[in-house]
Amino acid sequence: MQELPTIQPNFAPELAPEEIAALSEEIRALADARNAVILAHNYQLPEIQDVAGYLGDSLGLSRTAATTEAEVIVFCGVHFMAETASILSPEKKVLIPDLEAGCSLADSITVDQLRDWKAKHPGAIVVMYVNTSAAVKAETDYCVTSSNAVSVVEHIWREHGDDTEILFGPDMWLGAFVERETGLLDEPERRARFHIWDGECHVHAGIRPEDIDRTRAEHPEAEFLIHPECGCSTQAMEYVAAGDVDTTGVHMLSTSGMQNYVEEHPEGEFIVATENGMLYPLQQAAPKANLIEANRMAFCKYMKMITLPKLRDSLAEMKFEVSVAPEIAERAKVPIERMVAIG
Ligand code: SF4
Repeated sequence: MQELPTIQPNFAPELAPEEIAALSEEIRALADARNAVILAHNYQLPEIQDVAGYLGDSLGLSRTAATTEAEVIVFCGVHFMAETASILSPEKKVLIPDLEAGCSLADSITVDQLRDWKAKHPGAIVVMYVNTSAAVKAETDYCVTSSNAVSVVEHIWREHGDDTEILFGPDMWLGAFVERETGLLDEPERRARFHIWDGECHVHAGIRPEDIDRTRAEHPEAEFLIHPECGCSTQAMEYVAAGDVDTTGVHMLSTSGMQNYVEEHPEGEFIVATENGMLYPLQQAAPKANLIEANRMAFCKYMKMITLPKLRDSLAEMKFEVSVAPEIAERAKVPIERMVAIG
């Protein structure tokens, strides 16, 4: 099979089953002693998912972070997610086991770049994917997820008028999807007031419609599931919306929607477009289902930086703390709360 043109992941060294068992036991004991909760994103390594107190997507974990009674949150995900947890729970100590666990999409726009962009479009409303730094969120009017980007943009037009100028970033694929789904492609004048930043996530960079078509041709009976959680799947969303890949049997599903769907079809065959860590909880939900990666190289190297030894050290030494300056947190909270309110 031809290798798809994505960046090679940095695989963590594999641990033997007995090492995993011993480390997991040590981590659970440390978490109890510290009154800590371990939150893990669905794209984490399987052994991290297994030791976590809560597993979920970015938004679900933020909500858990905001309501937990634990004093310490160890966030097994990427840095902007830990920042979001800290913004929503400023009184708690938020740790991330590896400070290098960033996000290529979040890194594609800095706060200075956003300020320059705003200066060129005074009065424009800023809509940013939730995959951004706290500093960028503090300069943002609305955060969005892949699932609610279209509703948020339509909400802005309803509230502020159809001719409102919008700066949308940093994911160009999600921007293109929003343009198409809101009918902007047929309205050149309004489209000229919808500006898209040209950032993207490294995980899907370079995947072409023909790569998806080939995988689907090899499994003609399989349904095609797209998980619009992260920048790694927005490109597939846009290909489907544009009609660049066959739309038969395509389902765009949230984390829980996808889990329910495979549970309801326990012996089904599914091609799944997402970061491949998501296949682990799906396979646990439906052990007999045949799950096929739409792109077997779709690993987020940042998500895989979190390992059991780093998680253990994080709890043992209470490192690395992620905190957001109160004046930034206060402003960054506004677009996050708007996003949550619009749903
Ligand atoms: S999959 Fe892409 S968008 Fe998601 S955390 Fe990794 S680099 Fe960021």
